[in-house]
Amino acid sequence: RFKDFYELEPHKFQNKTNGITPRRWLLLCNPGLAEVIAQRIGEEFVADLDQLQRLRGFVDDESFIRDVAKVKQENKAKFAAFLEREYGVQVNPASLFDIQVKRIHEYKRQLLNCLHVITLYNRIKKEPNKPFVPRTVMIGGKAAPGYHMAKMIIKLVTSIGDVVNRDPAVGDRLKLIFLENYRVSLAEKVIPAADLSEQISTAGTEASGTGNMKFMLNGALTIGTMDGANVEMAEEAGEENLFIFGMRVPDVEALDRRGYCAREFYERLPELREAVDQLSSGFFSPHQPDLFRDIVNMLLNHDRFKVFADYEDYIKCQEKVSALYK
Ligand SMILES: *Cc1c(COP(=O)(O)O)cnc(C)c1O
Repeated sequence: RFKDFYELEPHKFQNKTNGITPRRWLLLCNPGLAEVIAQRIGEEFVADLDQLQRLRGFVDDESFIRDVAKVKQENKAKFAAFLEREYGVQVNPASLFDIQVKRIHEYKRQLLNCLHVITLYNRIKKEPNKPFVPRTVMIGGKAAPGYHMAKMIIKLVTSIGDVVNRDPAVGDRLKLIFLENYRVSLAEKVIPAADLSEQISTAGTEASGTGNMKFMLNGALTIGTMDGANVEMAEEAGEENLFIFGMRVPDVEALDRRGYCAREFYERLPELREAVDQLSSGFFSPHQPDLFRDIVNMLLNHDRFKVFADYEDYIKCQEKVSALYK
């Protein structure tokens, strides 16, 4: 037993709460931003990250703001060039880079992100002449070999992308890219280029998360639920400096007691209903109309992670993100 080893040699056991190293996730992967920071507060932050507090003195400093924005734009241009070179896809580097990279899992709710993309697509199609803040949504991550639903989520992302990315009515206002073979070396490239970090797990399901920290350290804004380390990030930065949406842990528990009924949300929210109906009718899989039947069936009848319950608030929160980016 684990306990026996502990009693034998207690000095060998000590807890380390999850975290990230600022050497890899700032200095190495984003030397431009590290330099802009060092020019203002010196290099002590490299070994003592609390020193970043001293940047508070520069929140209204025009030259600092300009330098941070310039580095972000350079990182976006560099990642766009990488995507074109490696995968032959073209993205608009002036668009909002909206990024969700992490293992594919139902609790992390890549499906909620997909429903947002479909909703944006339907809005553009309905009012093609309305001004629209351009977005490039990127979703990346691996699925465990035996995890069927995770594999289907990847298939869904690429299928939505096939429709949206080729639609001439959409142009470069909306793109959905699946980042294949997501790993640390790709994380080091994509995270410095992010405008928006997606941390949207069902409250109460993510133990900590570390991707959230990497994005924040690289100057991306976070859209997220009050889950895992997002909670501490909101405490440190102030909730007004994150896009927090959706159910909190007590809300999830209350919904469990009442009994979560996905159909209530489906019936009440017309844009959600439209998106789900498109999935069931094969709009995104014309050669195999029932391809996403399992996903729709799960979402409507046995979704342990309550995607529909956070849909409305997530869409509204994303509207605030677009308004601020503009
Ligand atoms: C940091 C990291 C993760 C963890 O991401 P979460 O968003 O915390 O789940 C997973 N994979 C890679 C390659 C990472 O670099």
